[in-house]
Amino acid sequence: MKVKVSVDQDLCTACALCYDELPEVYEDRGDGIAKVKDDVGGDGAVIEGEIAERAAEISEECPSGALVTEIIEE
Ligand code: SF4
Repeated sequence: MKVKVSVDQDLCTACALCYDELPEVYEDRGDGIAKVKDDVGGDGAVIEGEIAERAAEISEECPSGALVTEIIEE
């Protein structure tokens, strides 16, 4: 699987779920709001493999719908 990940920071409620569950991809930007880590490629980064599958799962769990995960390849 290959996915493009981003965070709609206007929707994020700083619940911490994504960066607690998948710290390889997401982090707290400093005030609790999530961001895609710079070393992953930042907003709009394309990730693949097992970590992409995890990101797709976690985007379903985000309570505010702020995790945008676009599937590029199944
Ligand atoms: S799971 Fe959603 S609401 Fe919670 S910190 Fe991540 S992007 Fe924000």
